[in-house]
Amino acid sequence: MQYEAVIGLEIHAQLLTESKMFCGCSTKFGSEPNSQTCPVCIGMPGVLPVTNKKAIEYVIKTGLAVNCDIAPYSRFARKNYFYPDLPKGYQISQYELPLCGHGFIEINIDSETRKIGLTRIHLEEDAGKNIHEGAGNYSFVDLNRAGTPLMEIVSEPDIRTPQEAVEFMKKLRSLVRYISVCDGNMEQGSLRCDANVSVRPVGQKELGTKTEIKNMNSFRFVEKALDYEIKRQIKILREGGKIIQETRLWDSDRGITESMRSKEEAHDYRYFPEPDLVPVEVDDAWIERIQAQLVELPDSKRKRFSSQYGLPEHDAALLTSERAMAEWFEKAVDLGGDPKAVSNWMMGELMRLLNEENRQIEECSLKPGQLAGLLNLIDQGTISGKIAKTVFEEMYRTGMDAAAIVKEKGLVQVSDESEIEKVIDEVLAKNPGEVERFRGGEEKLMGFFVGQAMKMTKGKANPKVLNELLKKKLGNL
Ligand code: ADP
Ligand code: MG
Ligand code: ZN
Repeated sequence: MQYEAVIGLEIHAQLLTESKMFCGCSTKFGSEPNSQTCPVCIGMPGVLPVTNKKAIEYVIKTGLAVNCDIAPYSRFARKNYFYPDLPKGYQISQYELPLCGHGFIEINIDSETRKIGLTRIHLEEDAGKNIHEGAGNYSFVDLNRAGTPLMEIVSEPDIRTPQEAVEFMKKLRSLVRYISVCDGNMEQGSLRCDANVSVRPVGQKELGTKTEIKNMNSFRFVEKALDYEIKRQIKILREGGKIIQETRLWDSDRGITESMRSKEEAHDYRYFPEPDLVPVEVDDAWIERIQAQLVELPDSKRKRFSSQYGLPEHDAALLTSERAMAEWFEKAVDLGGDPKAVSNWMMGELMRLLNEENRQIEECSLKPGQLAGLLNLIDQGTISGKIAKTVFEEMYRTGMDAAAIVKEKGLVQVSDESEIEKVIDEVLAKNPGEVERFRGGEEKLMGFFVGQAMKMTKGKANPKVLNELLKKKLGNL
């Protein structure tokens, strides 16, 4: 019997608002514990929440970017449960009337496009953080995060493989960053994911019993946890067992998922409409204003990069995955860089250097115009492609222009035939044995001679001139 997996993701994204969801406290990350709290977000009796309008706008913006219907009327609900990081004893969320519904996004796997449905996007507040560290027999509670706006994006069970789940998450991360509603910082927990997964015999329509793996904050964990969980479930079914509907935790050290608690049902939470907040009413004019602020999204940018600049699919996809990178590319091209050359340098040298230092393109002092300048020097034959790599790295490190570096370091390419001829003569004179073997038919020694000549000129010899002259000389020997 062959089984297939069915996966649905619930993605939590922290919104980039300055203040919290229902009070004026700051949402800044990493401050002194409990320094960003007030009677509202620590749940004192008698206080009243006030909705953060920006948070509503951010969710609408996201909804529009993922083809959702925006509800003209939605409201908040109380989700009741007890936990030390939730001082009110309930989380303000949305339940039967979420802000957005019925959307989809497209993901690309092996040049095939798959449409993944989105059930809903709703707004809620985050809880605080329990900290279990230190030697003592106690824990801490930090409520700085309590009340931070969270958007929950729920997918339909349309995902079939761990790889698709990761692509889905990557796509969403790219999107929320494009429209500046979430920083997508997974390490800091700004974007995290609960993965629901079940398996069923291939061909069966009904869904199997699912488990939910909680709170993963890296693509790798999502992929590995789902991989493990799918295998675990299939094994149980093959052995004639039954899947228990439950919530599980991914243990990244041991590489397994573990049962955390049996599945809670919606009625366990005693949801009811939040009596302290007015419903959210969204009219068409508001939606249109938000729509007007939407930037070009990754999918259309990718298609435009292919057609307008003639870039291969792979280049276009990579360059448009981050808005800042796409903008950097277009600036370099606007300033005269050849599109394919700019793309090659960005995807090769630039990414290598950025990755080495774990930096984002926004943080790099190299400017697009400087790459265009470097490409110009290569085109004019002022420097060789090999030297250009050195110059590029120097530009990246110092922020100096290519021309200045070439001048300062004397890196101008030597194309003068008589000068190169002198070098060739010297190389041949120094290596009589190799010359002998070359004449005996060992033609691959050509590379050796080129290498020696390059070494003598510190890489500055024009390779084309060098090769031609060498061939001529050796042919005439
Ligand atoms: P719950 O009520 O348990 O929270 P929901 O219906 O709200 O379940 O769905 C939560 C997530 O689980 C959604 O992303 C949905 O697509 C996914 N899901 C629902 N049923 C299944 C299933 N049988 N297998 C895999 N995923 C599922
Ligand atoms: Mg749910
Ligand atoms: Zn507060």
